[in-house]
Amino acid sequence: MGSQRRRIAAGLFDEGSDVSAVALDFERTHHWVAVNSYRVRVAAFALIAIPIALHVLPRSPGALFWIAFVLQFAIYPHLMQWRARRCAQPEKAELDNLIVDALMSGAWAAGLAFPLWISVALFLATLLNHTIMRGLPGVLICPAAILCGALASTTVIAFRVSTDTDGLVTLASITGLAIYLSLMGVEFFSYIRRLQEVQGAVAAQKQILEDANGALHEQIRTIHDLQEMLREQANRDSLTGLFNRRYLDGTLEREIARCKRENTPLSMLLLDIDHFKAINDTYGHQAGDEVLRVLARLLQESARAEDIVCRYGGEEFLLVLPKMPGDIARERGEHLLRQLGGTVVVFGDHRIRVTTSIGIAVTPLHSNTAEGLIRRADEALYLAKQNGRNRVVTFGDAVG
Ligand code: GH3
Ligand code: MG
Ligand code: MG
Repeated sequence: MGSQRRRIAAGLFDEGSDVSAVALDFERTHHWVAVNSYRVRVAAFALIAIPIALHVLPRSPGALFWIAFVLQFAIYPHLMQWRARRCAQPEKAELDNLIVDALMSGAWAAGLAFPLWISVALFLATLLNHTIMRGLPGVLICPAAILCGALASTTVIAFRVSTDTDGLVTLASITGLAIYLSLMGVEFFSYIRRLQEVQGAVAAQKQILEDANGALHEQIRTIHDLQEMLREQANRDSLTGLFNRRYLDGTLEREIARCKRENTPLSMLLLDIDHFKAINDTYGHQAGDEVLRVLARLLQESARAEDIVCRYGGEEFLLVLPKMPGDIARERGEHLLRQLGGTVVVFGDHRIRVTTSIGIAVTPLHSNTAEGLIRRADEALYLAKQNGRNRVVTFGDAVG
């Protein structure tokens, strides 16, 4: 019980904290064993020694009796405490001590010929100690041990019964018993008070831990959100918000492999703004940026959920269209060409129009790798530029 409580205390409280100090102090001073051991035993034996001494004095016992008396009531309680302290398991040693106490009580009661009030005091005090320390089993163990002690005594000395006690002895026995019961009551009152203190400290500590735990979870959630944001930002182009080349590098091979597995084509559109340098030169770099933003938004809005729209380079965009055959991709390219070409970008007083050129390549027809597919799309785009711009060219098509 003690070691378990120590483990709980060690787990709950930091070394050196106030709560820890309360708990450990409590542990040291209010262990059941501590409560019931030294002080209590010394008090019990001192209180019972008085009526016994008063009882035997008129009978003038010999020196041997007084030696036994001093050994029992002055030396024995300290010896038992010393033994228990040195023992690796003080709690078990104290329980053993209790049995020796009960044997001794029986032996003294029988040795004195069972004087009524002395026997009652001995029996009740011993029984109380046993039940406090052992619970219900103590009710059986204690009388059994007392009986054994009495039998041993009657075997050695002789069986005699003389239950009379004079008034003074009776008074001393009852007073001693009352004092002993009161001491035990006070002891347990303070034990319960300290227990309540510790429970209060534990509850406060638990609340602190719960608060800290809540704050920690909140921080973890924030860190997680920030990480998510950083991951997202790392994959996005800051000007247009489209996926960047880094994202494409990590995704394209996977998309190609997936379409291959599902035996469907994947089309790629590489789109480049015509004479974009002239836009910058004419309207300024800021205006060029606005054109890029507007075109990026249009591309994103026209995309299907499974399409990947990237800003591939300065004024180049790359569209990955999974499960889309070349002829549909071409229609899509033609449509984009018209849509983008018909868009007017307003920048200040300027109304800017641009045209684009688009190169298309398709898996598995033109290539089965990301690198190969981009190269083919780029070659198609080059042809579109060569042939006058503002047009769509699919790789391998005859360009007229
Ligand atoms: P072509 O029709 O042959 O594609 O001609 P082009 O002028 O579009 O091609 P070129 O490669 O000569 O020019 C691309 C220009 O795009 C050059 C560069 O200043 C511009 N550019 C690249 N990135 C940005 C950007 O983020 N913002 C702006 N405003 N301009 C950019
Ligand atoms: Mg370019
Ligand atoms: Mg260009």
